[in-house]
Amino acid sequence: MTSLMDEGPRLLRGGPIGTVIREQVAADVAAFKEEFGYQPALAVLVVGADAPSLVYLHKILDGCRLVGIGDRLVELPEDATEADVSNALQTLQADPKIAGIIVQQPLPKGIPLRVIIDTLDPMRDIDGIHPLNAGLLSLGYDGFLPATAHASVEILKQSGIELAGKHCVVVGRSNVIGKPAGLLMLRENATVTICHSKTADLRSIIRTADIVIVAIGKANFVTGDMLKPGAVVVDVGINVVEGKVVGDVHFESAVRVASAITPVPGGVGPLTNAILLTHLVRAARAKATGAIPLGAHSLAVPAPEAK
Ligand code: NAP
Repeated sequence: MTSLMDEGPRLLRGGPIGTVIREQVAADVAAFKEEFGYQPALAVLVVGADAPSLVYLHKILDGCRLVGIGDRLVELPEDATEADVSNALQTLQADPKIAGIIVQQPLPKGIPLRVIIDTLDPMRDIDGIHPLNAGLLSLGYDGFLPATAHASVEILKQSGIELAGKHCVVVGRSNVIGKPAGLLMLRENATVTICHSKTADLRSIIRTADIVIVAIGKANFVTGDMLKPGAVVVDVGINVVEGKVVGDVHFESAVRVASAITPVPGGVGPLTNAILLTHLVRAARAKATGAIPLGAHSLAVPAPEAK
């Protein structure tokens, strides 16, 4: 019998998985419009965005249009106040057609997290930044997940990679990627180690990993010689080096050692946007059907695997 290693490393591509998801979303949106008589919309709120993140956000909004979801972009200047952000969110949330809102992270330093806690409707928080959703995830209940973290685990699941009982090392502990990805892998019954910039002897920890998820924002940082032979590698990083997009993993050396690896570009990125659309449809349906608010609903029935 040939092993994965004999056959060479497998490329885990997010594009084809994303295409299937988008087709389903388009069908779900058509059915939603038929049933409820309106087009659900996604709003993106940006405070003082730089050009690269605007490019990313426009991609999300373009993706909405392709599946029949409405889109709205609200841009506030860098010097916007807490009240400006709060007012913008309230205006968006007064429109019942706005089913989901993405607040581009990080907010400028002068804008406290309080504005999100006090103003953002957790039922519309389709990128899982509200502490209610973060809390539900950490308790093992269903809330809205941060889309990139969700995509980095979903790409493994959809590719048939076994997760239960595996040692997963997550490199990076941001609230939007590393931390939630670690919690999701725990939910999948992996044994999880989360590393960060102060981790001692990162190299030997990565070497023990069956699965490595890297999200640090440092181009080509994890090299093939740091990996256990046959490890599965999810590279979440997006960096531009000499005009070329590269990941946080040095692909050319890692691909020689890994049994499976996500390419950059073409790995987690394309799946992230598709997954956001599924969150939007879920939020729209919950709103339209008057489902019990997220937290109460989720907490009423413990998730079977709640840990
Ligand atoms: P972030 O908020 O800057 O967090 C980076 C994390 O990496 C931090 O926890 C930091 O540790 C850790 N880190 C930095 N240098 C390290 C080192 N030398 N060794 C170990 N850990 C180190 O970044 P992020 O928002 O999570 O984004 C991470 C990457 O994902 C970026 O390249 C970003 O562009 C990319 N991204 C991809 C997608 C996608 O769809 N694929 C979406 C969004 C972002 P400390 O906590 O100790 O500082």
